Amino acid sequence: MVNYRGHVADSTVPNLPSLDDFTREAKAWLEANAEYRTSGTDEKDVVWGEGEFSVSVFHSLSFEEEKALLERAKAWTQKKAERGYHAITSPVEHGGLGYPREYSRAFSKLEAQFQTPTGHETHSVTVGLIAPTINIYGTPEQKKQFVGRFIATRDLCCQLFSEPGAGSDLASLACRAERDGDEWVINGQKVWSSGAQFSEWGELIARSNPDVVKHKGMTAFIIPMDLPGIEIRPIKQMSGGSSFNEVFFNDVRIPDSMRLGPEGEGWKVALTTLGFERDHSGDGGGGGSRVGGSWRLVLATARAMGVTADPVMRQELAELYTHFRVEGFVNRRAADMRRAGSPPGPEGSLGKLVWTKGMRKISDVISKILGPALIADTGEWGTYAWGEQVLGAPGYRIAGGSDETQRNIIGERVLGLPGDVRVDKDVAWKETRR
Ligand SMILES: Cc1cc2nc3c(=O)[nH]c(=O)nc-3n(C[C@H](O)[C@H](O)[C@H](O)COP(=O)(O)OP(=O)(O)OC[C@H]3O[C@@H](n4cnc5c(N)ncnc54)[C@H](O)[C@@H]3O)c2cc1C
Repeated sequence: MVNYRGHVADSTVPNLPSLDDFTREAKAWLEANAEYRTSGTDEKDVVWGEGEFSVSVFHSLSFEEEKALLERAKAWTQKKAERGYHAITSPVEHGGLGYPREYSRAFSKLEAQFQTPTGHETHSVTVGLIAPTINIYGTPEQKKQFVGRFIATRDLCCQLFSEPGAGSDLASLACRAERDGDEWVINGQKVWSSGAQFSEWGELIARSNPDVVKHKGMTAFIIPMDLPGIEIRPIKQMSGGSSFNEVFFNDVRIPDSMRLGPEGEGWKVALTTLGFERDHSGDGGGGGSRVGGSWRLVLATARAMGVTADPVMRQELAELYTHFRVEGFVNRRAADMRRAGSPPGPEGSLGKLVWTKGMRKISDVISKILGPALIADTGEWGTYAWGEQVLGAPGYRIAGGSDETQRNIIGERVLGLPGDVRVDKDVAWKETRR
């Protein structure tokens, strides 16, 4: 049985090795291809002052440095792909092993003991958001061309959704796709397109019919990013780097074979990708993530700064710990629903809100722990570097649908509260005020 994300959901796999045999082989492979971690910021017991300290949310790197980081992440995924370890639960026809989830969990646990390249947003967008979207909406040819390739990160793909006038209200987007025989002509602008400068492909949502209500007149495409007429301009972020971009389309011509899903169904395609983006069921929770720091690192910092006897500080730390425990349970419940085969639904909004709230709480608590050491670089390990977390965390309260948008979804689709005011509900897109 193959579930929503294309993962094998039961254990009726021919030649399935025992979990013990699989783990033994995977361990030998990891030992042959990677080094054990000595110390680092992601380990159970943080040794203060030892190893690399990174709590950044977004990379603060030059173009060349960020490209090199991405290449290292891709190379590791491609190495794993030689054995199918990059996609243990994915079907064999996409280069996976088709094994049940406990095999993938066992591998992740082992892999965490080894030094592996730092992740990158565009890498996870390609693998976790766009590949499964194509797996649902793609033609057989598109699935064959892209799904395995994207899961193994042989190519990268960015999201071309938001525009200067369409973010929270994405359905009002104005980038035009006009049909011309067997081709489409694209004109308009996208913005905040993460990793567009590093991507070979883009998932584009464009307005194909201005004469119908806004949700109905959109079509999705998978397009090459090096076509004549596409211009990519990086945007400088407050956290230092330039992870995202403006993308301009000037009479860009694409064949109809690049259309993803039926004409006029682009909104459904976009919602599917966004559903995967908001789905945090795969996260362990408990503040254990490498992006933006972890509970253990906050605690280690509090101990190093000698504040753990302060009653107010103890209260703050206890609240943070409680939050991460709750986050772990919320994610586990969502993971159980995924395992049972149900697609990501509005509960993804709850998971995303809890996640961004945790990041904000870390920023608040760490600011109190460090005080001036957060903004004056004394060279001490694990102090000033927290600034990258504090400046990066707000980005995820906006990306993938802002906190307010998630609350609207929960209010309307989970709690059944009255809907937001929609003045353009029955109005053709071309008649709406933008
Ligand atoms: C780090 C990061 C990465 C991103 N990556 C991508 C990407 O790869 N591809 C892509 O297409 N986009 C990307 N985005 C864009 C992102 O999806 C949008 O920024 C987001 O949807 C919000 O849209 P906006 O910026 O236009 O803000 P607006 O929609 O203008 O919102 C402004 C403020 O008004 C609030 N608001 C708006 N409408 C309502 C309402 N109805 N009720 C209550 N409050 C409301 C919002 O919550 C927000 O606080 C990224 C953004 C960030 C921060």
